[in-house]
Amino acid sequence: MGSRFGERASLHALPYSGSTQACLSPDVAAGCDEELCALSANLFRIERLAVHDGPGIRTVLFFKGCPLRCKWCSTPESQTALPETLYKVEQCTACGSCVNACPKGALSLSPVGSVHTDHSLCTGLGFCVEACPYGARKWVGDTITLDQVMSEIEKDEIFYHRSGGGITLSGGEPLLQPAFAEAVLAAARMRGISTALETCGHFSWDICQGVGRHLDLVYVDIKHADPARHEALTGVRNEIILENIQRMAALWTETDLVVRIPVVPGLNDDPKNLQETAEVIQALDRVSRVELLPYHRYGVATYERLGREYSLKDLKPPSSELLQAVALVFSSRGLSVRIGG
Ligand code: SF4
Ligand code: SF4
Repeated sequence: MGSRFGERASLHALPYSGSTQACLSPDVAAGCDEELCALSANLFRIERLAVHDGPGIRTVLFFKGCPLRCKWCSTPESQTALPETLYKVEQCTACGSCVNACPKGALSLSPVGSVHTDHSLCTGLGFCVEACPYGARKWVGDTITLDQVMSEIEKDEIFYHRSGGGITLSGGEPLLQPAFAEAVLAAARMRGISTALETCGHFSWDICQGVGRHLDLVYVDIKHADPARHEALTGVRNEIILENIQRMAALWTETDLVVRIPVVPGLNDDPKNLQETAEVIQALDRVSRVELLPYHRYGVATYERLGREYSLKDLKPPSSELLQAVALVFSSRGLSVRIGG
C-alpha cells in the first residue's frame, strides 16, 4: 500500500488545477508562491451547491477535527483530526478480503454475514479499505491542497454571484487548521467570493484573530451557559468560547455575527439555561441574529459505521411548541430569532 495521503489525494475526485487559476500569493509581483498553493488541510467532505450553510448557493468545506465531543453531534466523522475508516454493512458481501488484509488481526467475519472490528486492535492503517472490492470500507478524511480546494470552489463561482452565496468553512472545527482556513478565505475574497465560517468558538484567539478580516459572516454556537454543564455535554468548559464570542462581536466589526443554539430536549432547554444564554447574547456588543437548531438524529447511522456508541439513543427531536417557547425567551428580549439554520 502506498502513502495514504499521496495516493488518495484525489479521493474527492478533484482534478488538480495546475496553473489554470490566478496566483494565490498576496504578493503577486513577487511571483508564484508555491508554498502557499501547496498548503494543505485535512477535510472530510466538500459539498457543492449547498443551501443550508449560509445565504444563497454555497460550497461548504468540512474540516476534520474538533475540540468538542457534543453528545448530539450529527457528524461524528468530523471529530478526530486524522483520517479514519468507516464500514457500511449494507454494502458488505462478507467476502473476507479485508479480514485477510488486516495485519493486526482486528477484523473477523461474524456468523451473521458482516465484519466485526476489534477497535482495540485497529491502528487505522487502512489496508482493509484498499482490499475491499465493494466500497464497504471507506476512508473519512483526506489531505487536500489550497490549490485543489480553490479549483473546486471556482467551479460554482457563477452560482455564488447570482444567488448571493459563497463559501462556508464548516466541520469539525475549521480553526483547528487556522493557516489553511485563513488562506482559503483570503483567496476566496481575492476573487470576490463571499465567505462564511461555522465555528464552535473553542479556538486560540491569538492565532485565529486575523481570520476575521476575510469573513463576511460567522456562525458560532452557545451550547450551554453553565461551564460545568457545558463540559458534561461537550467535553470542554465554555469560558474560552464565551470570551471568543465577545471578541468576535467587539473586534470583527465587518463580519455579521449569528449565534446558534442547538435545542436538545432535556439537556439545554431548561428555563434557567435559556435565560442565562439570552443574557450572554444581550451583553454582546452586537449580534445579527439568534438561530435555534433543533436536535435531530441524522448522524446515528454514522456512529454505527464508525463503531462508536451513540449516547442519546432514546432522545426525540423537540416539538414545534418547545421551539416556539424557546424562541420566545430570546425574542422577548428584543433579539432577532430564527428557528432552523
Ligand atoms: S462542535 Fe460540532 S462538530 Fe464538534 S463535536 Fe460538537 S456538534 Fe460535533
Ligand atoms: S472486503 Fe469489503 S465486502 Fe469483503 S468482507 Fe470486507 S468489508 Fe465486506
